Amino acid sequence: MSTYDVVVIGAGLAGLETARRLAGRGQRVLLVDQKTALDRSVHTTGIFVRRTLEDFDLPEDCLGPPVRHVVLYSPRGRALPLESARTEYRVGRMGALYGRMLDSCVAAGVEWAPGTRFAGLLDDGTHSVVVLETGGRGWSARARLVVGADGAASRVAPALGLSVNREWIVGVEEVFRVSTDGPPCFHCWLDPELAPGYLAWVVADGEEVHLGVGGYAARFQPADALRRFRERVEDRFGLRGKMADERRGGRIPVGGVLPRIASPRGLLVGDAAGAVSPLTAGGLDPCIRLSALAARVAADFIATGDEASLTAYSGGAFRRRFRSRLLLRRALAAVRSPLAAEIAIAALRSPLLRPLASHVFFGRGSFPDTGEERGITPITPRSVKTGRAQEASVA
Ligand SMILES: Cc1cc2nc3c(=O)[nH]c(=O)nc-3n(C[C@H](O)[C@H](O)[C@H](O)COP(=O)(O)OP(=O)(O)OC[C@H]3O[C@@H](n4cnc5c(N)ncnc54)[C@H](O)[C@@H]3O)c2cc1C
Repeated sequence: MSTYDVVVIGAGLAGLETARRLAGRGQRVLLVDQKTALDRSVHTTGIFVRRTLEDFDLPEDCLGPPVRHVVLYSPRGRALPLESARTEYRVGRMGALYGRMLDSCVAAGVEWAPGTRFAGLLDDGTHSVVVLETGGRGWSARARLVVGADGAASRVAPALGLSVNREWIVGVEEVFRVSTDGPPCFHCWLDPELAPGYLAWVVADGEEVHLGVGGYAARFQPADALRRFRERVEDRFGLRGKMADERRGGRIPVGGVLPRIASPRGLLVGDAAGAVSPLTAGGLDPCIRLSALAARVAADFIATGDEASLTAYSGGAFRRRFRSRLLLRRALAAVRSPLAAEIAIAALRSPLLRPLASHVFFGRGSFPDTGEERGITPITPRSVKTGRAQEASVA
């Protein structure tokens, strides 16, 4: 059985970023994902916010055109247009980005095990024994630390005895690779019949159109809401008669960062840690930001064995900084009728509340700084252009 400093379960944005940074700090890392290829079953729209684009060096060719325009609509179509002087969003080409990040991990020395499922965790006294399964065959790896980067319904979290997500919304979307006219724009509908507790959206960046709905699972049928929403807007975005190139969807934790995300046996990152803005449901910026901190804390802990170093990775401390966003989440969840949504949009169009709408869409508040933002290394080392990641031997 091979022994690693860290076994990272899940190769989404959080797992890839954590694995790459750990390897960059000299750790022996095994990265596993149940997917056989990371460009399959992408579940995110992939909108990166300005703060991420400014603080981290994402590969340019994995991002769509800059988006500066947002329009927020009421159920009856009353519009609140917002425009920023700066690039506020770019839609990631996520399959390509995951591939590039994986290449970067492998270049840094990470061993990669695709098509490999996390099946459980044992303890041999000094290490965790991570029970894995590849192609129906069981195998194990020893690890000083285990990182749960396995998404919103993490199985690693309970295996480590850490907190688990309990509040979710569900999002589904269709992706069309079609060109559109006009400036790239993020259109959002506040309509509790289509998207109870969240939004319906169309992002048209000139090269792709993403059309989706999100909301509390108990309050709507996502597939039916998506069909109705598409019928409503397909002519406007030139989608009538077009087959979607991709369908995406999944759960989004919106209860805030979980209280207990670290123990001497392992850490949680990304959705597994509940690191998603409760208001906007944006999780990509928190993924990168929290993973950078997790890698530093994990490397420190492995080097010193000092449990005090884990206090730097406290979900409780992050939670305190989420209070206002959790309150706004409650307010959004409370918009239960089309009339309430009409009134909310009318209020946001007023000169008094318009700055609040601008702040929500254009502010830099997705996730608290972790202190790891300075001295950030690029996701793609200049030497790595393409190439196939090596796979770990499962023998
Ligand atoms: C429809 C939708 C749209 C969204 N749009 C945006 C957006 O535009 N902008 C934004 O900021 N956020 C968005 N989010 C949220 C964002 O996508 C997530 O917060 C983010 O992708 C989480 O990344 P992650 O790496 O933590 O988890 P994931 O991307 O879920 O990765 C987890 C990985 O773990 C693997 N895995 C799971 N279980 C196991 C197991 N037992 N064994 C092995 N591997 C396992 C999975 O295969 C997966 O690859 C959206 C979410 C949804 C659902």
